[in-house]
Formats: sequence, structure tokens, C-alpha cells
Amino acid sequence: MVTKKYASLTQIQSLISQGKTSCSDLAKYYLNQNKENKHLNAMLEVFEEEVLNRAAIIDEKIKAGTSGKLAGMFLAIKDNICYKDHRVSASSKILENFKSTYTATALKRLLDEDVIVVGRCNCDEFAMGASNENSAFGPVKNAADERKVPGGSSGGSAVAVQADLCLAALGSDTGGSIRQPASFTGTIGLKPTYGRISRSGLLAYASSFDQIGPITSSVEDASLLLEIMAGKDELDATSSSKEVKPMAINTLAKYNIAYSKEALESEGLEPSVKAAYLDLIKNLENDGHNVVEISFPYLEHMVPCYYVMTTAEASSNLSRYSGMLYGKRSEHSEDIESTFKKSRSEGFGNEVKRRIMTGTFVLSADFYDAYYSKAQRVRRLIQQESNKILKEFDFFLCPTAPTTAFEIDGEKSKDPIQMYLADIFTVQASLAGLPAISVPTASFDGLPIGMHLMGRPFQENDLLNIANTILTYGS
Ligand code: GLN
Repeated sequence: MVTKKYASLTQIQSLISQGKTSCSDLAKYYLNQNKENKHLNAMLEVFEEEVLNRAAIIDEKIKAGTSGKLAGMFLAIKDNICYKDHRVSASSKILENFKSTYTATALKRLLDEDVIVVGRCNCDEFAMGASNENSAFGPVKNAADERKVPGGSSGGSAVAVQADLCLAALGSDTGGSIRQPASFTGTIGLKPTYGRISRSGLLAYASSFDQIGPITSSVEDASLLLEIMAGKDELDATSSSKEVKPMAINTLAKYNIAYSKEALESEGLEPSVKAAYLDLIKNLENDGHNVVEISFPYLEHMVPCYYVMTTAEASSNLSRYSGMLYGKRSEHSEDIESTFKKSRSEGFGNEVKRRIMTGTFVLSADFYDAYYSKAQRVRRLIQQESNKILKEFDFFLCPTAPTTAFEIDGEKSKDPIQMYLADIFTVQASLAGLPAISVPTASFDGLPIGMHLMGRPFQENDLLNIANTILTYGS
């Protein structure tokens, strides 16, 4: 668990109401933290002047008694979330100087409650990666050990929270991009149910998977941010109209929890992570929860299924970056075809190109049935099996990642398959559209370890309850 100057928004608001601090003081604190930790490369841009101006305005609102629920909240946003008149690049050269023409619905709802946006966070290019090394603007360093990656793709958001560059951050999660970096940085990462939060204004990677979610150091901040961002949005047809109930954290509830036999026996599971997993199982049992080992037979099929589906969706989503409509147009282009080819060749990084090509291949007429339509059927099976488990149990418990943070530019970075296996436990919730949370429970050699709970659709409140309970066990 990370130690920060301010533990939660409630603490900040109480200090403000006692006159012990103000948004303007806090703005100076967070801006200074950003200056001192610039070398971590977590932020691509800090909105310095704007933070100071907005803080002064919100201080006035607090005095007048007209401030919103998030007055005092300093938030960093992943660089794939649109904020009107601010740059948004998805950490890609192809969008390097592109400015948003509108604000993402999720962010707009937070701004309406007086959140202050500190800046935009580095990430893997177009949210494709598990180490933040795929950013066109350099890797992010893990503040627990600067030789290590922070995880990805929301690595900058996680480090921004870890290193106290902000109180909370927004990430996006397609297959683990909020949860795995949360695990590597000792923060809390929540991926909501698919459809809980509008995707309008989130640069699309794989639309049937993508969700925005919070990375925080307290459960109550995650809960508040979720509650405000959630709910139907006319601009996203896949957003759910299911009522958003006020979140209330209850640590007395006792739950039925399943844990995975296959995860425990899986080959790539580091001993330190396995020990943390077994420890948590024991702690939950001692605390009166009903914890049962079950078998989930599809573990080895999840990563291949995820990568067929998401690369297919990415190849379609990214076709809009052609040099014609948005962002970079190659200076060497002569006609329409060379504009397409050269703008993409120069603008996209290697991992993005690899995925566009893989996705185009799995969708091609000759291979569609062998790959894409087969993966769709596997996805359905995984959905069915996951829902079956959650009929009987409140949660399915796994480690968030099989390892702790690995080296920047190390072995994993050279082997895409090894990198893809970092997602082995997180992609299930994404394939099934279910909510999931990563909670820090232990550390090994100074590196944090997170545990992962997947819950029933739209039952994020239960996930937050159990996360809060788990945090009381200490690490
Ligand atoms: N690591 C996964 C990938 O590369 C997850 C990314 C994400 O959730 N955006 O696709």
C-alpha cells in the first residue's frame, strides 16, 4: 500500500473545512510533487497554470457553499481520455499535437463536481501493452524501484497515484490495463462492469472490452469516482441504463468466495505471488468468509481468445488514423495511397502495427472462421462459465498478475507472447464484461503484489466492500 500525504478526499475536505489547507495550497503541493518526480515520466503534460486558476475558483465556491462533491480532488487522466481543448495523443506520434474537440462524458461528470485535472498520463500507445514501454514518449518508471516497469497500459496513471502526483487517476481497461498496473504499484484499480461508465470520449482500442475506471489509494475514493462517472449516456449506446445506486462501504459483510485451482498451479506464477495468494485465502477464511477452491477449465484459452478478439476490433477502430482526418499526415506523401501508408508507417509504433496486422489477418475472408468466429464462440463459453461460478459465489479470486513488476527493457519486452501472458488472470473479466478490482495485499523485495477479485455484473459495491476488508488485513 502506498503512503501518501493525503489518504483520501474525505481527509482533504475535512482539512479544508477546518481551514488547515485550501485547494490553492493543495495545487502547489501536487504541482511541486510533479516537478520533483518528473524523471518517472508518468505525466506527458501537467496543466500547471490551469490547476492554479481552477483551484482558486473552487476555493471561492467552497467559501460560498456552492462547491461540488469533488472539491479538493486532484485527478490525473490517462492520455486516451478526451478533455476539450487539451491535447490527447494516446501516447502515439500519430496524434502528437492533436487537441480534443469535446470532453469525455465520464470526465465531464467529474468536472461538474469540481474535480481539478492535474495533467495527462503516459500510457502504452493506444492502450496496447502491459509495461508502458510501448509509449512513443518513453517508458514510465515504477516508483517502488525505478528499474522496473509500472505495468500497463495505464502505467502513468498508476505511478501518478503511487508517487503522489495527484490524489487519484483515471485509467482505461481493455484486458487488465487498470488492474495490472495497480498491482505493480500498490494502488487500487477498479474495472467497472462493461457499460457501467460511458465510453464516449475514450479513444477506442477494442470497443466491446474498453472501460474507463479509477486508480486510487483508498477504496472510498474509488467508490465516489465510480458513482459519479457511472450511468446512462446518450452518446454511448452500450452504456447501461441500470440505476446507479449510491455506494456505501460495508466491511461487515461475509461472502462466498471461489478461488482458482488452475491459477494456483499455473506454471508462470512466481513463488512470492503464490504465497501472497495463499495468505489472502487464509486471512479470508479466518475472517469468516466461505472460501472454496474451484476449477475453471479455460485458463489457457483466455489469452489467445482475448488477442484474436481485441486485435480484430483494433484493426477496425484504428483505421480512422489515415493521415486524412486526425493527427499526423506524413510530409512525404504524394497521393491518397501514400498518405495512408506513410502517415501510418511513420505515426504508429511497432506493437500497434503488429496488432493492426494480426487483426486484419484474423478478419480476412480466408481465416475469419478459423480465428475470429472461433474466438467469439470461446468468448461466449468463458462468459457462460464465469457467470456460472458467480451464481454460486460472490467473487472469483485470483492474483492480479503472475509476477511482480519486471525489468524495463528486460526479457519480457523482447517477447510479445511473454508480455501477453502478463494478462492471464485479468482478461477473464474483460471477456465476460464483469467488474473486477485489484487490491494491494503484499510485497516482495520492495515490489507490491495485488490480488484480483471479479464480481457479479453491476455489483461493484460488493467488490469495494471486500477490497476494504482485505486492506484491513495489512500486508
Ligand atoms: N495488456 C493488455 C493488452 O495489451 C491489456 C491492455 C488494456 O487493458 N488496455 O491488450
